[in-house]
Amino acid sequence: MKKITAKKATKKRSRASSDRGSGKRQVPALTSGATPPAPAKVRVATMWLSGCSGCHMSFLDLDERLVELVKLVDILHSPIVDTKDIPQVDVGIVEGCVNNNEQEHELKKLRARCKVLIAFGDCAVTGNIPALRNQFQLRDVLLRAYEQTESTKISCIPNDPVVPVLTAKARPLQEVVKVDLHIPGCPPDADVIWYALTELLAGRTPQWNEKNLRYD
Ligand code: SF4
Repeated sequence: MKKITAKKATKKRSRASSDRGSGKRQVPALTSGATPPAPAKVRVATMWLSGCSGCHMSFLDLDERLVELVKLVDILHSPIVDTKDIPQVDVGIVEGCVNNNEQEHELKKLRARCKVLIAFGDCAVTGNIPALRNQFQLRDVLLRAYEQTESTKISCIPNDPVVPVLTAKARPLQEVVKVDLHIPGCPPDADVIWYALTELLAGRTPQWNEKNLRYD
């Protein structure tokens, strides 16, 4: 897998910023007592597609390690950040599989705007629970959900154009876009998430083995 290019991105950003304005390279004034500029952080977006949010909850289980993490990364787009559009980022982290046309559109947009894309959790990696519907025809799935359930009072398969259209199959990310790293688990354990992120931030590719993928 391509190493996380945060260092390259940092170099590029600082070069662009130093060339800005007069066209001459600006050297920061480092007089006695001046605070040196903080290194640029890795820009991150997380996305929640068809999943139960358990993977994002596991991310929050990093607990006090989140404090360490935010020294190194900026989370610019996420279900826990109130932004409407996806900015250019270094890393995209995606929970859940692709179940409808809107999710496919959003995933492709994130892929175009990030350097490293991570399939985060088993739904993103294999389709997992949402892909159980794949053994049935789409029409039967819709009939069961909207007309045949015991609790249904008014039968109506949604057809308003604002409602995302269910795709024929639920698909793991790699069936829709190129994925750079898979983090398996339902959900991935916080220690596994920490290991994967810190390896990437160090410019290394996480190595999965029997030890860090044990679930018992
Ligand atoms: Fe939920 Fe498991 Fe899917 Fe994560 S992998 S979204 S925890 S069902």
